[in-house]
Order: sequence, then C-alpha cells, then structure tokens
Amino acid sequence: MSPRMPTPTAMSSVTEKTFRVTWSDGHESAYSWLNLRINCPCAACVGEWRYRPPKLRIEDVQPGILAMSVSKVGAYALRFVWSDGHNTGLYTYASLRNDLCECDECTTRRDSGGAS
Ligand SMILES: [Zn+2]
Ligand SMILES: [Zn+2]
Repeated sequence: MSPRMPTPTAMSSVTEKTFRVTWSDGHESAYSWLNLRINCPCAACVGEWRYRPPKLRIEDVQPGILAMSVSKVGAYALRFVWSDGHNTGLYTYASLRNDLCECDECTTRRDSGGAS
C-alpha cells in the first residue's frame, strides 16, 4: 500500500444523514449510508477473491439503513456496524477514496473516467 494514501483526520457522527470524512490531504468526502452498505467489501457481500456471486442490490438492503457506529481498523480501513446487524466489512481508505466517495469532484472524475 502506498505510504502516501491519505488518512481520515475527521469523521462526522453516524447520526448524520450523510457520512463525511475529511482526509489528511484536505479532501472532503461524502457518502450515503445506502451506497456504503451496498458496497460492503466483505466476503459475504461480494464473495471470495476470484469468485463473485451477484452483488448486493438495493432491494437486498433494508430501507433507511444506517450505521450504528464506525471505528478505525489499524491504519488502513474503517469498519461500520450497521443497523441490520452486519459488521464484517472493512472499507479500506483506498476504496473509500477511489471507489466510494460521492463528492462532486470524485463523482465527476468517475463519470468521465471511462471505467468500463
Ligand atoms: Zn458485507
Ligand atoms: Zn471525493
């Protein structure tokens, strides 16, 4: 992992409607709970490496899903405890920044990035 990967310097409370993270490089990320939950990276949600069952769909997630708590895991990831009881996903800083951030800047970058 790159030693230059930014790390969170501040996080909003899980009681906020939108989860916000301020990063060590100054970037401010915004995440919706539903999107974070759907993109849970744990084995139960996306399958083991090289084997992917169908990804979670919106219908698979409780309406109004929320995180009950969030904690840092080591120096590389966040773990959420969800209102549906799920808590095994480790959201790496890299995925939070590169794949999941919903701020205008990142949304625009991904839309124009030509990811297939
Ligand atoms: Zn999961
Ligand atoms: Zn962003």
